[in-house]
Amino acid sequence: LARKKKRTNHSIKSSLVLGLIRDSGPLTPAQLSNKAGLGLVTAGKYVDQMIQQGYIAETGFEKSTGGRRARLLDVNPQFGPALGIEIGGSRLICTIASYGGVSLETVHCLPPAGVPVFDVLVEQIDSLMARVHTIKAIGIASSGIVQSETGISFFSPHRSDMENLPLKTLLEDRYGVPVWLDDISRCAAFAETRLGVLKGEGDYLYLYLDEGIWMCCSTRNTMFRGTLGIEGEVGHFVIDRNGPRCGCGNRGCLEVFASSPAIVSQVERALEKGVRSIVQHRAVNIETIIQAGLAGDKLCYQAINEAAERVGLVMAQVLNLTGIPNLVIGGCLANAGLLLQEPINRMVKTHSLSVLSRDWSVRVSPLDERSGALGAAILALRSIVGKENSRIKELESIITLR
Ligand SMILES: [Zn+2]
Repeated sequence: LARKKKRTNHSIKSSLVLGLIRDSGPLTPAQLSNKAGLGLVTAGKYVDQMIQQGYIAETGFEKSTGGRRARLLDVNPQFGPALGIEIGGSRLICTIASYGGVSLETVHCLPPAGVPVFDVLVEQIDSLMARVHTIKAIGIASSGIVQSETGISFFSPHRSDMENLPLKTLLEDRYGVPVWLDDISRCAAFAETRLGVLKGEGDYLYLYLDEGIWMCCSTRNTMFRGTLGIEGEVGHFVIDRNGPRCGCGNRGCLEVFASSPAIVSQVERALEKGVRSIVQHRAVNIETIIQAGLAGDKLCYQAINEAAERVGLVMAQVLNLTGIPNLVIGGCLANAGLLLQEPINRMVKTHSLSVLSRDWSVRVSPLDERSGALGAAILALRSIVGKENSRIKELESIITLR
C-alpha cells in the first residue's frame, strides 16, 4: 500500500510539473520549484526524468542579470508528432506536425460526393498512420458544431453526415491514440497564438472566414467555450430574417451572405446577368475573385466589400458584447488583406460604442490554409502533455493536503 501511495504521489507531482511548464513555460528551475511548491532538487529530478522521456527540453537561457544565467525549461518543440485534420465544408486537410508546429507533411483531399465524410477521414488516417508509425495523437478541427469535452460532432450546416457522430470515441477505439476534437476557429486561433500574429497575446477575437464563418474569443489566455462547449457561432447571426435559407435551418444568417461560397455565387449570378469582369473567362473561385478584387475589378471588389461590411456590422455587435477590441482574421478570405480589413474597420468604428472601438484593431493571419489542421495537431499533443489548468489546481490541493 505504501509503495502504491508513493507511486501515485510521484505521478501527481510529475503531472503538476509538466502542466506548469506547459501553461506557464518557459520557466527557470527556480521559478518552477517555486510555482510547484517543491524543493529545487526534487523539482530537478522530475524535470530530468521528463527530459529523458522527451516531454520537456531546455529551450534557452534566461536574460543575463550579471550572474550565471539559468536554463529555461519548456515543452519539447520536437515532441510528437500528431496528425491534425481539418474537416472543412468541402475539403479535408491533413498535416503531421510536432508540438512546435513544424509540419512534416501535408495532404489535401476533396471527398467525392455521396461518400460519408467519416469513411474518407478513416481512409486518410489509415494511409498516413501506415506510413508514419510514431504518431502520438490525432487532432480534428471540425467545421461542424462540436463539443471537445465529449468529442461529439452534433451537426454541420455544411455536411449532413456529421450529425451526432461520437468522433473521439470512434477514432480512439480504431487507432489507440488520444484524439482531440475541436471547432475549426479554436484550432486555427490556437495555431495563431503559437506561430502567427497572436504570439504572447491572451485577449483576442479570432474570426475564420472561409467556406463558413466561425469565431472564437479568448480572455487571459483562456478560450471561451460556453456552458455547452459551443460558442462563437457568428456565422449564424441572423442579419436578414427574410434572407436565403442557411444550412443551419434558419434564414438570412451572416454565412449565406459573407462566406466564400456566398461570394462566389454572387459573382457568378452577376456574370450570368452580363456584368463585365476580368474573371469571366477564367475559373470563378474565391482565389480568382480575390485576385481580381485586389487588381481593381469592380464586380469582385464590390462583392468582397459588401461581404466585409456585413461581417463588420456583426463584429461591431460582438465588440459591444465582449469588450475585446483585438481581432485577427484567418481562413481563405484573409488573403484579401486590406480589401477586407478596411470595410470591417469602418463598420466597427461606426456601429459600436466609441469607448470600445477607439482601441479596435484588425489584423489578418500570416498563416496558410493549414492553420486549422496544425492547431488541431498541437492541441492534441497538448492534451497529453500535462493536465488542464483546473486539474492543476486540484493536484496542488492534493499535494498540500498530504
Ligand atoms: Zn445559419
